[in-house]
Amino acid sequence: KNMVYAFHKGNAQMKALLGGKGANLAEMTSVGLQVPPGFTITTEACKVFFQNGNSLPDELAPQIKSAMRQLEAAKGQFFGDPSNPLLVSVRSGSVTSMPGMMDTILNLGLNDQTVRGLADSTGDERFAFDCYRRLIQMFGNVVLGIESVYFERSIKQLKKSLGVTQDQEITSEGWKQLVTDYKRLTLKETGHDFPQNVDEQLNMAVEAVFKSWHNPRAQFYRNIHRISDDQGTAVNVQCMVFGNKGTDCGTGVVFTRDPSTGENVLYGEYLMNAQGEDVVAGVRTPKNIQELKGEAPELYRELDLICRQLENHYKDMQDIEFTVEHGKLYVLQTRNGKRNALAAVKIAVDLVREGTLNKEEALQRVEVSHLDQLLHRGIDESSIPIVLTTGLPASPGAAVGQVVFDADTASEWEKVGKQVLLARPETTPEDIHGVIASNGVLTGRGGMTSHAAVVARGMGKPCVCGCEDIVFDLGNKFMLIGDQTISEGDWLTLDGASGRIMKGVVPLKEATVTDDLMQMLSWADEIKTMQVYANADNPEDAQIAREFGAQGIGLCRTEHMFFAPERLVVMQELILSDTPEQREAALNRLLPMQQSDFEGIFQNMTGFPVTIRLLDPPLHEFLPNLKELQQQLFTAETEEGKARLAQLIRKVNSLHESNPMLGHRGCRLGIVFPEIYEMQVEAIFHAAAVSTAQGFEVIPEIMIPLVGHANELKVMRELVVSTAEKVLGPAYKNGIRYRVGTMIEVPRAALTAREIAGYADFFSFGSNDLTQMTFGYSRDDAEGKFLGHYLDRKLLADNPFQVLDADGVGQLIGMAVTSGRSVKPALKTGLCGEHGGDKDSIFFCHRIGLNYVSCSPYRIPMARIAAAQAAI
Ligand code: PEP
Ligand code: MG
Repeated sequence: KNMVYAFHKGNAQMKALLGGKGANLAEMTSVGLQVPPGFTITTEACKVFFQNGNSLPDELAPQIKSAMRQLEAAKGQFFGDPSNPLLVSVRSGSVTSMPGMMDTILNLGLNDQTVRGLADSTGDERFAFDCYRRLIQMFGNVVLGIESVYFERSIKQLKKSLGVTQDQEITSEGWKQLVTDYKRLTLKETGHDFPQNVDEQLNMAVEAVFKSWHNPRAQFYRNIHRISDDQGTAVNVQCMVFGNKGTDCGTGVVFTRDPSTGENVLYGEYLMNAQGEDVVAGVRTPKNIQELKGEAPELYRELDLICRQLENHYKDMQDIEFTVEHGKLYVLQTRNGKRNALAAVKIAVDLVREGTLNKEEALQRVEVSHLDQLLHRGIDESSIPIVLTTGLPASPGAAVGQVVFDADTASEWEKVGKQVLLARPETTPEDIHGVIASNGVLTGRGGMTSHAAVVARGMGKPCVCGCEDIVFDLGNKFMLIGDQTISEGDWLTLDGASGRIMKGVVPLKEATVTDDLMQMLSWADEIKTMQVYANADNPEDAQIAREFGAQGIGLCRTEHMFFAPERLVVMQELILSDTPEQREAALNRLLPMQQSDFEGIFQNMTGFPVTIRLLDPPLHEFLPNLKELQQQLFTAETEEGKARLAQLIRKVNSLHESNPMLGHRGCRLGIVFPEIYEMQVEAIFHAAAVSTAQGFEVIPEIMIPLVGHANELKVMRELVVSTAEKVLGPAYKNGIRYRVGTMIEVPRAALTAREIAGYADFFSFGSNDLTQMTFGYSRDDAEGKFLGHYLDRKLLADNPFQVLDADGVGQLIGMAVTSGRSVKPALKTGLCGEHGGDKDSIFFCHRIGLNYVSCSPYRIPMARIAAAQAAI
């Protein structure tokens, strides 16, 4: 079996076999670039190596030998030749790039004899011994496992004894001495001499690179980036070229464009008379590549030309390593350069303008998960923050403020102009005014779909959830994070993109919605076929949603309208009322409040559908917490106050359920207390009538939550239709188009979608509850309790509350779409859970043919691009 490919035998398509670097070297060679000759040992050989219990396959040795003979022929030198030796490098090259994670050995082929030959053939003894000591150092570290500190200590001692501080000041005698020291060190640490046989050096180096695939650093990188352990690495063996042979030599790294701004200028660093590691290790300070223009204009021009050539060939910004040997420029490596979000968008748009890419290709270049960096404020990463703890990155953006532990203080402090951060064990609807007043929110418990997370995302407010290691002492107004005490009023910074909680005021970077991003978004709209709606509960959010390009509202959670303090009181009155009269009075006060919100939303969304969900949460969520009430009762002063508290406590007790999420909520409320839903529907149609009369185009879509049986929807639909007729009368009947539909968020609803579709004009998949109920994982607790553990152990590939579980939950969704459409081909379908803002989930929704996804306003740009990518 062929396990060795010369560079000129491979190409870029052979990445799985040759690794990224090998495939690239082959491709560059075929483009006609000056690449030092070499060959690649395949990832297959690596797999066989592991299967053989870490020993090289028998058929490999002769193949390496014959490839070496070819290199010798190409260079006119011989491996191990004491008069003019060929030297090679051995480097790893995995299929997926893992920068800096694996190992490299340079200058293989030097020994006590050949080092003389190198000295003679280059006329530079100092250089030859420097090379030799570098080989022993790298070989000793990578192959023999000797800690690099030992070598560093040796160099330090040498410099001290010579009375010098810089490597350049070490003479050839000095390097010779170091070679002797290193060899002695090798013998002492390993019990063996440094191998003098060059073939043995090469074989050992290849083995070591294969083994480095399993080193902890590489494993950690693979874990973080979800790279499979099975891929294995290829090994590249390549002729050495030297950047340290004199002043007409040098080495450097260049990006074809600026990776932080995207600007079309060469960006990078170089050093004359140096080897690559000098730059990487920071032993010498490299110069800005722009200085090369003055120092060696010819060279700069050639480099610039190569950069353009490589960009055109790869159609992307490149990160190139080069070496100059006696004025001859060699390209050692090129790969697509890493860049930040700002640069990524600019480069992609520029490449379209320059005619290198088409729009589709440009859109695919955007890593949507990075767009959050552009659309929200972020931590200025040039600062060095003190990270106290890390929680779940629940809502992107960074915020600075003085910490407070309750919503009332948050709102009082905000009124007097303070910057606040709200920290709570968890938030409830009652804290909403505190959330509004704060720059950001952090909670001890709760996951990505917890109340705090959902509310914060909806407002575009930074939020970190589930910081399990924070201990709160609300009574004494402080919290403990590790050994740090954070008291009310202390300054903190939080980063909702990474989940970090940081001490003090960390500098922030503003959001940057550039013209390039706008351009990219408009291309996305041309290409995508699925619509993008917003989850928005008030006129302001509806406005923001439109500005971000929403094509409708997919979820207006009406309960959010009741959480403003002045409305919450009325809602509580409603819940506490004992007589029908009391209840009606409360409803009559709520109606105009809802109506005015709906008017604002309809008007800001004119011409686009607005999906309004009738009341969903269990009623106890509108009442204060039992413990707090008992505390208040204890300290209440008047009899009247005591009586009211006692009544509240009775009510809270009577509403108590063991499993509220599976309890009296959603349409179950609408069926038992129809007057609440009637009031909401009345408010919707009054608002629709008013707005229509003012010339707005209103398209209400009334959505019934938590349906599990067709009969539930049947009665709720009747309620909506009869209320609409009551409000609109015959005059408006045909003037306002409205739809009645349901959320599909209970597994049974998905299973019986055919029956349910009989009463529904649309289905909206509530993927939060559907995930909760399909997995049987509480959306409020699972992340903090066991889900993290599951993810660490890779029992689940992703958090199912973040990335839609295509196999299970997705199967229910796909099934429901198919069976719903089988009875009603025009059935409109969408998804409005948190997954609507996640790239993989958006791809899934596109695949199964949903009409839209709905997500928080701030995620819309990202969703538009993801929807376009899905359509390409
Ligand atoms: C859902 O369950 O996915 C949903 C959108 O509703 P909520 O998050 O309000 O329960
Ligand atoms: Mg739900």
